[in-house]
Order: sequence, then C-alpha cells, then structure tokens
Amino acid sequence: MQVAYIRKEKCNTTMCNRCVKFCPASRKDMPVIFIGRNKKATVVEELCNGCGKCVRICPEKAIEMKFVKDKSAPAETVEAETETNQTAPSKQTAPSQAAPAPTPAPKHKETPEEKKARKKSEHVNRVIRTAIACILGMLAGLASFYLAGTMDPVTGTQPMPVMGLLTLVLAIVIQKTIFMVIRIDVSKLGKKDWFYQGFMTFVTWFLSWTMMLSTSFSA
Ligand code: SF4
Ligand code: SF4
Repeated sequence: MQVAYIRKEKCNTTMCNRCVKFCPASRKDMPVIFIGRNKKATVVEELCNGCGKCVRICPEKAIEMKFVKDKSAPAETVEAETETNQTAPSKQTAPSQAAPAPTPAPKHKETPEEKKARKKSEHVNRVIRTAIACILGMLAGLASFYLAGTMDPVTGTQPMPVMGLLTLVLAIVIQKTIFMVIRIDVSKLGKKDWFYQGFMTFVTWFLSWTMMLSTSFSA
C-alpha cells in the first residue's frame, strides 16, 4: 500500500503547515503528520491511510506517495530495496520477485476544504507579493532622489534622471529572486502577475520620487 512521505528539502513550514491541518486521519491526540524538531513535516507511516490529500494540499510539492510492503516496514527500506533491484539485477532474482515500483498518487477531485485552503494560501501570497512590490517601489523612489544628483533650485529637475530609471528596473527585476528566497512559487506566476508587480513598483516609485522632489523644491 501507499503512504505519504516528505521531501524535507522542499518542506517550508515557515509559511505553512497545511498538511498537518488537513490530514483527515490525524487526531489531536494522535497526529499522522506533525512538525518535527527540524521544523519539517514528518509522517507517522503506521497511521497514514494513503488517501493522498496531503500531496494535493502541499503548496511546495514536498509530499509524495510511496509504496510500502506493510505498514510496519519503513518506507525507506522498501525504496532502498527497489533501487538495489533496479541498479544491480541479480541472475537469481526472478522478475516476479522484484520489489514493486512506486505507484503514482491517486487522483482525486479537489474538495471544497482543499479549495478553500488553496484560495487562502494564494490570497496570502498575493498580499505578500503586493507588499514587496510597493516597499521596493518606495525604496527605489528614495534611492532615485539621492542618486539622480542635486536638484536645480530654479527648475526643480535633477541632472541624472537615468539613475532613477535604472533603480526602478532593479527594483522590478529583483522581485523574482526575493520571491524564490522566501519560497513563493514563481512557476505559477503568469505575464499578468509580473505586469502587476511591475506596475505597483512603478506607481510607488513614481510617487515617492516626486514627493521627495516637490518637498525639496518647496523647502
Ligand atoms: S504542506 Fe508541504 S510545505 Fe507545508 S508543512 Fe506540509 S509538507 Fe511542508
Ligand atoms: S496520505 Fe492521507 S492519511 Fe496519509 S498523511 Fe497524507 S493526508 Fe494524512
């Protein structure tokens, strides 16, 4: 049968513990998935019923289903046996005796509960992305004011406005890296999302730069 197992390198519990909350087999006094001391989700294989819900709910794709011979045998053991059989075939080993290959997770329709959780997670990510775009825009506006040179007290212009444009471009481009660092899945972002990020950065950059200019000009 199958049990869930966690790819620890992908699990990101600083932003979520959705699998813990949504495992239908978990009970308060007997959790099937819990957050271990290493801050990563951990599955109690003996209690897992193999429903696969956690696979679909994980935003990091950190959970996979793994075949086990029986629940008392650790999944890693079966996997190791499978790998051994695949990499070093023995002449005495009949095909019928080979360990069965891992089977894919069963496909289920998304439940209303899962859909709600996914929507909530997407909303939180959207808010975080917007906040980052605005903060970067404001910082870029301030930096533009200081990098574009001393303002002409008569015309209110600065000698190197191109520095401001370069700062804006940097503030937009760096967002992808920031999202990856804080584990926001950028693969799901389309052109519309990136346009929105750039637009929000541009608006806040423009407002903060012109505010700095008008404040200095009127002073
Ligand atoms: S849902 Fe995925 S990323 Fe979140 S805690 Fe569980 S395994 Fe980790
Ligand atoms: S496969 Fe089902 S029972 Fe097992 S940990 Fe995931 S959600 Fe819980």
